[in-house]
Amino acid sequence: MADYQKHLEEIYQETIHLQGKGKVADYIPALAETEPTKYGITVCTLDGGLYRVGDADETFSIQSISKVFTFAMVFNAMGDKLWKRMGKEPSGTSFNSLIQLEKENGIPRNPFINAGALVCVDCLVSLTKNPLKEILSFVRKLSGNPKVNYDSVIADSERKTGFRNAALANFMKSFGNIENDVEEVLNAYFHQCSLMMSCTDLAKAFSFLANGGVNPQTGERHLTESQCKRMNALLQTCGMYDESGEFAFSTGLPGKSGVGGGIAAVLPRSLSICSWAPELNSYGNSLIGMKAMELFTTKTGISIF
Ligand code: GLU
Repeated sequence: MADYQKHLEEIYQETIHLQGKGKVADYIPALAETEPTKYGITVCTLDGGLYRVGDADETFSIQSISKVFTFAMVFNAMGDKLWKRMGKEPSGTSFNSLIQLEKENGIPRNPFINAGALVCVDCLVSLTKNPLKEILSFVRKLSGNPKVNYDSVIADSERKTGFRNAALANFMKSFGNIENDVEEVLNAYFHQCSLMMSCTDLAKAFSFLANGGVNPQTGERHLTESQCKRMNALLQTCGMYDESGEFAFSTGLPGKSGVGGGIAAVLPRSLSICSWAPELNSYGNSLIGMKAMELFTTKTGISIF
């Protein structure tokens, strides 16, 4: 078996010099205050192994990684009906782009661009009385950490500046693809993005995706085997904004990034991994995280390909 601890320590040393080459996201003012030199990685294997390096247990704003959780919730509840409301194709445009939506009648390309995530949240608002409570309890269950919570300062900061997300939601409403009150949908979306989790929380929370949809800690099934396969296919093709092709090419794992600097990925039937380094590249992905993930599959010799 690969010596994950040794690999993580090497990766950390070999990538730390990249600090200062990216830029912390500042379009959400509260995120701009993140310390740029934070850096951690956690690997969680299905047989219960946990390997960590650096700031792996410090919480950060998971931002778009949260889209994976709300998508899993609505995919589980609605099944294939969801595909009437969104597609399964990479967008090839940035995560918050409006351009395609006009031509494609308000149907987002996939669940992991902002428009698709807003539709998922809208579904959740229709399906549950208290979506914020449901999201929190799902994520706490997946991570095994009852302390996971929203950061209301970050959620408020995004609400005050999230004009583009408001535009996306209103635009989709004009096509009939948002059923609920736009403000309510945006509020739930900004809160899910503000979830604070550590690399260890996220690696544990992603482990059901490495395990055919079953949480290895509790034995609870959250997606069918087939839905889990489809989720991983979407993560591989659409999880890293318009750098998904590069991530498949260089790393070869289904994964999701967030503008808080996190990247969480899985190797089906084996492990989940999460890195956090807040400085982003020009695609909005963690610059160090991209390299760390590439080194991980190179050094261990494992990937889905
Ligand atoms: N809350 C962020 C936004 O909607 C999430 C973006 C991201 O992490 O990709 O702009």
